[in-house]
Amino acid sequence: MENPLYKGDDKTGGYQFYVYDREGEECFRCKTSIVKEEISSRKTFFCPNCQQ
Ligand SMILES: [Zn+2]
Repeated sequence: MENPLYKGDDKTGGYQFYVYDREGEECFRCKTSIVKEEISSRKTFFCPNCQQ
């Protein structure tokens, strides 16, 4: 019940899972700091260098 946004997200599900809640930590691909973004109170985490 805590992660409904992963449901059906086949394209980025794995990557989102990896970076989730890791703001400021290193991206596992390029070592860039992971960024958090909040859109409509929905948190999204991504690497600004190699996001799809
Ligand atoms: Zn990256």
